[in-house]
Amino acid sequence: HMVEWGEVDEILHHPQHPYTQLLISAVPDPEKSIHAELEGGRKGEIPLWTPESCGCPFAGRCNQAMPRCKETLPPVSKLADNHFVRCYLYE
Ligand code: SF4
Repeated sequence: HMVEWGEVDEILHHPQHPYTQLLISAVPDPEKSIHAELEGGRKGEIPLWTPESCGCPFAGRCNQAMPRCKETLPPVSKLADNHFVRCYLYE
């Protein structure tokens, strides 16, 4: 599933989707402690995604998940002319 797309610089510097935030915070930074917490996620189970699965695939690891996140795939929201995200936080 595409969760966020648009201008690369905008997404790299201002990621909006919790998965994108977690992904970017996992990039090694020599100025950060190796023990620094990652942002935007929590430990959880990596889902086994099947054709019968529903909801947001990131719900099991998202620290902002709501009950409906596990029920229906969120729609695409337009944040700017070339910045889109699929997350209930931006409806
Ligand atoms: S839709 Fe819900 S679970 Fe998925 S990233 Fe957004 S807040 Fe988290």
